[in-house]
Formats: sequence, structure tokens, C-alpha cells
Amino acid sequence: MKISSRVVILLQALLLVCCWQPCMLAAEADLRMKANELARKYLIIDTHQDVPYRLKKKMEDISKRTEGGNFDYPRAREGGLDAVFMAVYIPAEYEEKGGAFAFANEGIDMVEGFARDWPDKFVMTWSVADVKGQFGADRISLAVGMENGAPLEGNLANVKHFYDRGIRYITLAHSKSNHICDSSFDEVRKWNGLSPFGREVVAEMNRLGMIVDVSHVCDKTFYQIMELSKAPAVATHSSCRHFTPEWERNMDDEMIKLLAEKGGVIQITFGSMFVNGQVNKVSANRKKHIDEYAEANKLTGDEKEKYTREFLKENPIGDADVADVAAHIDHAVKLVGIDHVGLGSDFDGVGDHLPNGLKDVSCYPNLIGELLKKGYSERDIGKICSENFLRVWSEAERIACKLRSGK
Ligand SMILES: [Zn+2]
Repeated sequence: MKISSRVVILLQALLLVCCWQPCMLAAEADLRMKANELARKYLIIDTHQDVPYRLKKKMEDISKRTEGGNFDYPRAREGGLDAVFMAVYIPAEYEEKGGAFAFANEGIDMVEGFARDWPDKFVMTWSVADVKGQFGADRISLAVGMENGAPLEGNLANVKHFYDRGIRYITLAHSKSNHICDSSFDEVRKWNGLSPFGREVVAEMNRLGMIVDVSHVCDKTFYQIMELSKAPAVATHSSCRHFTPEWERNMDDEMIKLLAEKGGVIQITFGSMFVNGQVNKVSANRKKHIDEYAEANKLTGDEKEKYTREFLKENPIGDADVADVAAHIDHAVKLVGIDHVGLGSDFDGVGDHLPNGLKDVSCYPNLIGELLKKGYSERDIGKICSENFLRVWSEAERIACKLRSGK
């Protein structure tokens, strides 16, 4: 009797394991299917990808599947990406050595070239109406943002020049403080926030309907922008400092709250060092070594980049996971609600240092899957994928009209 009851228990356990595994697999397959369906149903806009700078270093045909990089047309379609802000990134040293204005114009030319060379795959976009109007077709909408305000070169008229060339946001600084404001990556805080010219730039951007991007700037710059800007601002590619304590490049809870209070949105960025505290620490140590080595050996620009690539290949910083990115989205949503969070991957801007499950533009459904697991509704996912950011962009357009009409 005793033996037979043990046998029964054993058989029951076996049955449970045998049923449980296929059930789990079926649930996982259902989730993947749902995530893929939502990636197609909802407009996905990614507010920061460094494709122009990647192609400047090594030209590739992004209308076809490419060996390297995180973006190309076939993978973007697989991932359900509909619109992307191509970042025209200007390395910080151009502030000193000159040539930033020309460098930025060349970057814009390159993005326009994508739409001209592959008109069945890419189309330029300059407004919320363009993005919405082009949604559902096979072409990917390309908007342009400027990463680093150095190309303004102290001339306020250049804000209008770049607006006319299609730039719809400016990340005021990059890794060094510049003539507009102080950067989070630079220990030198020349202006204690915005420079007097930087204050004029913010006003002019508001007047034209260009979004002020608060990613990369230092905390003081951020708070001054919050005070000054008449339109809501966006962090086009930042994550939550809560997970990477004391790292100024990510936003702390108080900043996210204030950004949201003013109607803005934080576009969560994917880079492993942005979303995983451990990876962030290792990365900081690696950076310290690279900076010291570069200084001792007088390496700058391309040489420093080459050394960085080789050193990190030998000494990898480790990978985060797609679940880490979902945790950042969830943290921001818990802080400020569902209306102030979106996606700004930084694909092609952080090399291979991307989370497992989120290595390129084909992977948005994996992130949507993580949000579904956390209980996010379809409605919520639509807001995160684009509606929140498009609301802020519309608001920038509306306020610009109002300011220009003098009402
Ligand atoms: Zn950046």
C-alpha cells in the first residue's frame, strides 16, 4: 500500500512536469505572437539611432541586411519599426577644432541620401502629421535630430538654418561642455548650466518648434531648461539613475518627475551600461583606464576610438538583458504614470554593448513581450511605442505657432 501510494505520487509529479513544460512553451509562443502583433499594430518611433555616424566610419547598404551595425531596412521591418530619429552626431572635439557646422550639414545630406537612394524603403519626415500619414506603408520614416549643439557656432540664425534643413531636436551638448551648456560627462562646468547664448538657443528652439533634448546635459543645465523652456522637453535617449546610482548621464527620480510635470517624456535608452548597475560599474572602470591611457599616449579622435574598441574586445563590460530595459520603463511609469515614457535605443551608438534580446532593430517585439509579462495593456504599449513622444512633438509645434503669432 505504502509503495503503491509512492508510485502514484511519483506518476503525478511526472505528469505535472510533462504537462507543465509544453504549457510553458505554448504560453511563451502565445506571448511572442501577441508581441509581434502589437509591434505591427502600433506605430513604433525610436528617437535616437546613430546610423549616420556608423556609416560615416564605414559605408554599408542599409536597404539590405548588413553584416554589422544594429540598423538596416529588413531588420527594422521585422521589428515593426515605423519611424526613427537619425542622430546627426558631432564629436565634441569639433567645438574646439572648428568645422562643426559643415560636419552637421554633411550628416543631414547623408540621411536625405537614404530617402533619395532607396525611395521605396525610406522617406523623410519633418512633422507629426508626416509620421502619422506615412504609418502603415512599407517605408520607414526618417526624422533628423542633432546630437551636440556645437554646429550652431554661436550664431542664433543657425538654429533656423538647421530647422529649415529638417532638424527637429537638438541635444544641446554631448560628452564635453560646449558654448551652449555644460555636459554630464564633463567635470569642467564652464557655465554652471546654460550659457547666456544657450538661453537664447532654448527660446529660439521654442519659437521654431524644435524639441529641446535634455539627454547628455548636466543636472544644472536640465533644471535651467525646465525653468526656461516654454514647450515640454524630451530626453531622447536616457534611462533611470535609480539603477545606476550617481551616474549623471541617467536621470534621477526627481528629474523624471519634473520632466513629466512639465509635459515631457523620457525615452528609455537600451545600452547595457545605462540599464544595468553592475555593467555600469565595470564600464566606468574601463572608461577610467581608457581615458588615462589615451592621455598618457596622446590619443584623440579615431585613434582613441580604435583603442577603446580593441581594449573592450579584450576586456568586455558584460551584457544587460532585455528585462533590464523593461524594468527601467516600469520604474519611470511607477514614478510618473504611463504618459511620459518612450523608446530611444541609441542603436549604432553604443557598439555591441546592448542587452541580450535587444541587440538590433528587429528586437522591439522582445521588449513588448517583457512589458506584456509585466501586465502592461495594449493601450499602455501603444503610448510607450510612440504616442507619448508624438504628443510632445505636437505640443512643440503648437507652442511654436502660438509664439510666432505673438498670442
Ligand atoms: Zn548620445
